[in-house]
Amino acid sequence: MHDFKYKNSELFCEAVRVGDIAKKVATPFYLYSYNTLLGHFHKLRKAFGSLKPLICYSMKANSNLSICRALTKAGSGLDIVSGGELYKALLVGCSPKKIVYASVGKTEEEIRQAIAKQILFFNVESYPELELINKVAKDLNVAASVALRINPDVEPKTHSYITTGKLTNKFGIDFDTAYTILTHRKKMRHINFNGLHMHIGSQIIDAQPYIQAVKKLLGFIQKLRKEAIPIEYLNIGGGLGIIYNNEKPQTADEFAKKIVPLLKNTGLKIILEPGRFIVGNAGIVVTKILYVKKTPLKNFVIVDAGMNDLIRPSLYGAYHDILPLRPSTIDHRLSTKYDVVGPICESGDFFAKDRILPKVNEGDFLAIMSTGAYGFSMASNYNCRLRPAEVMIRGNKSFVVRKRDSYLDLVRKDVIPEFLK
Ligand code: PLP
Repeated sequence: MHDFKYKNSELFCEAVRVGDIAKKVATPFYLYSYNTLLGHFHKLRKAFGSLKPLICYSMKANSNLSICRALTKAGSGLDIVSGGELYKALLVGCSPKKIVYASVGKTEEEIRQAIAKQILFFNVESYPELELINKVAKDLNVAASVALRINPDVEPKTHSYITTGKLTNKFGIDFDTAYTILTHRKKMRHINFNGLHMHIGSQIIDAQPYIQAVKKLLGFIQKLRKEAIPIEYLNIGGGLGIIYNNEKPQTADEFAKKIVPLLKNTGLKIILEPGRFIVGNAGIVVTKILYVKKTPLKNFVIVDAGMNDLIRPSLYGAYHDILPLRPSTIDHRLSTKYDVVGPICESGDFFAKDRILPKVNEGDFLAIMSTGAYGFSMASNYNCRLRPAEVMIRGNKSFVVRKRDSYLDLVRKDVIPEFLK
């Protein structure tokens, strides 16, 4: 699954002792395994190989330039959601013809930039957005390519915050509205309607909702084709779940076995846009125990990482395994229930609650596992904390792929007006 393994009772990332990086870089920091990252990308590409899909890695999961560059070099396209992600996608050398752009709230300026760069297409989420794209394309005297993002109204059985394919969600366009748009498509003279898109949610561990949604979209495409409305691309989104705790998500092969037969011989060009599946298990957070605090009711392990560095537990109640870097130094007979918490002034600042850990001591290092996706990309400077460094391991070599913020970074953009000086 991943290249974080114990060797002689010490945690290694590929061939590098994680503790050595902790001493060099100082905690907290993110640590990525290049082999795990590329391994997941290739697994998915191989599983869907017979369809020759375009895989557009979803940058929102982790937009570190080296992560995006590694995937782009391996042949991945990119799924973006903002002008900032477009900027970074182009910076890492991604061909605009491999960029797809979703988001319910694209601004006029973002639309203009993406059209000017000739991205593959926008995943359009509403009629007013379509009108705006048409207007901007007209101003630029070009035709913009779009796929309509369909909201297929299926239940993906995941956390409600990351459910996106139900009609109560803000995402996508219902079938009836999409049908009306496509049958009146000639009105939008500056739009090329290239395809359909769906993305029903994230951390989905069961293929059933995908099958249901893909079938609904294929039925819709048949109906459109009968009316001579051509559909070239079908983008089936991302959302593949990974193992955080004791989930049993399908492997890439198992998933493909169920989905590929539906899509074979449809004449459609297939796009996938996974994020978490590719990068989730390829990263960890390494943090140091500052204090072990006993209260009448609880044992707290206070670490030097906070919810600003990794917000998933606070935001979604997400589970992450927490492992000591050197379990041999720890007395397993004295396992205790701990709350693992950060230094931030919020009770929501926790990484685990009532977690049974071996007895740990101040100064020990811990690894918070499976934090490659929606980890650093959701990090902030809350409490004026410095966002952590990011380090990538490849074989026996380590590379700082993002430096820790500095105090200067905290104030660089602030301006004190004259009258306050
Ligand atoms: N595509 C779209 C449109 C998304 O909104 C997301 C995540 O929210 C993704 C792809 C990636 O999802 P995941 O990381 O679960 O694969």
